[in-house]
Amino acid sequence: MPTLDRRTFLAASAAGFAARALPAVAATPYAFRHGAFDVTVVSDGHLVLPTTFLAPDAPLPERDAILKAAGQTGEQYNSPTNITLIRTSSDLILIDMGSGDRFMPTAGKLWDNLKAAGIDKAKVTKVVFTHGHPDHLWGTVDELDDLVIPDAAFYVASAEWDFWTGENATRGLPAERAGCVTGARRNYTAIKDRVKMIKAGDEIVSGLRIIDTPGHTQGHVSIELAGADGLIVGGDALIDPVIYFRHPEWYYTGDHMPDQAAATRRKLLDRLAADRSKLIGFHLPYPGVGTVERKDSAYRFVASA
Ligand SMILES: [Zn+2]
Repeated sequence: MPTLDRRTFLAASAAGFAARALPAVAATPYAFRHGAFDVTVVSDGHLVLPTTFLAPDAPLPERDAILKAAGQTGEQYNSPTNITLIRTSSDLILIDMGSGDRFMPTAGKLWDNLKAAGIDKAKVTKVVFTHGHPDHLWGTVDELDDLVIPDAAFYVASAEWDFWTGENATRGLPAERAGCVTGARRNYTAIKDRVKMIKAGDEIVSGLRIIDTPGHTQGHVSIELAGADGLIVGGDALIDPVIYFRHPEWYYTGDHMPDQAAATRRKLLDRLAADRSKLIGFHLPYPGVGTVERKDSAYRFVASA
């Protein structure tokens, strides 16, 4: 997370509070059937981020025109956080665990929203993490650093685990970014006796497979569900509904490896458009479910709901 840190996030949040009233939390889960799976998207709330995070390397007039057309004209924008829950005949599988209570006041609503929907979090049997950023991982523990779902099995890409627990996570790290590493290690420590390392191609349950989508972070993965034309839970590979569909090559400030992230976006968009697969995007407008259309060298996200 090169220039993202908790302090920046919190400052942005405070400015966001001052600038406008909070939108209502999307409390009603969005559910649909996909092949052998019952898929439900539950909101963890949203992040409030500086708009300058989006495509800082792009020609400004072009970037601003796209944002303006999309209605994003403020200095901050709200980034939804959509958690995917997958029910099979034998398992209840959560993809990421949200922000928890130590990241941003607008996020960390997953447990309340699950409860409101009548879903018992204690019934979750497996948790698969796309990557180790705060909004995906920090909900793993409660305020006492105890596991929120102590009986689940946890799955983390080995490349992601190695990055956050290794020396490269802190090498040359500006002091204000240390919180991301500390937080990742705090949550990883809590699951270390229950975690299973995964890599691309691994099947978590029949029809649910891990695919490599590196760049946003070193070990970022997505989840592919068999059935119909396919479905990909894409984590943060496609983080904005307009900018990165129009210009996959533009950078995102939160990407650890910007060139790799751009290459991953291009590959994923090609595949989604060709296969007409469904996409669930963690930060796309709630519930973040849709398909991808290709037009010349650009793409378009077509929301299903
Ligand atoms: Zn994220």
